[in-house]
Amino acid sequence: MVNVLGGTSVRPDGSRGRTGGVGGSPSIAAMSSDAGRQTIVTLDLEGVLVPEIWIAVAETTGIEALRRTTREEPDYDKLMAYRLDILAEHGLTMSAIEQVIAGLEPLPGAKAFLDELRARTQLVILSDTFEQFARPLMAQLGWPAIWCHSLDVVDDRIVGFRRRMDEAKQAAVAALHGLNFRVVAAGDSYNDTTMLLAADAGFLFHSPDNVRAEFPMLPALDTYDELLEAITAALTDD
Ligand SMILES: [Mg+2]
Repeated sequence: MVNVLGGTSVRPDGSRGRTGGVGGSPSIAAMSSDAGRQTIVTLDLEGVLVPEIWIAVAETTGIEALRRTTREEPDYDKLMAYRLDILAEHGLTMSAIEQVIAGLEPLPGAKAFLDELRARTQLVILSDTFEQFARPLMAQLGWPAIWCHSLDVVDDRIVGFRRRMDEAKQAAVAALHGLNFRVVAAGDSYNDTTMLLAADAGFLFHSPDNVRAEFPMLPALDTYDELLEAITAALTDD
């Protein structure tokens, strides 16, 4: 029986065992262990690399009610339902919001930080934003990988949103662990804490006092230099 995927096979003598490398050579051992694992960094987007998009929309449109974020409302579904109601109430279109986002820039130093980090290891941005909102900002950041949600838009109106999945950030870390990566994570808000706690090392970055106070087990950092240093140390701390 030939098993090209390298699973358990039956040898000619009838015994069972793992298939080896090319030609089943016993001298080439495929090592898979916790020691020396490959690494990957998962980063939140808003508040860490770019401004809070909804706050920028609130400032540009003058609709103060849109300032509410996951920092104040930990229940994301509640927060989104509230936001969509306000957009409908004010007749705010998708293209009007796109115009606001087109005027946003990454936080000062974010692109250089990201470039340096991506030279050191793999990276994926895990965000509760939407593909449509993220695109102009990803262009400015050099198109890093991002896993996020998407909006339902009908006739230039945002009518709903589609979560890619529930608990997407935490599930991503679990999946990356399943692929045998050592995961180091950073984020600023309530919606990041499950990701930060699931990772091999997690850091709060640019976090408000209430989040820091509730999660004293997570180191809290405020500059990209500090974060780069902490992540780099955590990547090699295996
Ligand atoms: Mg955030």
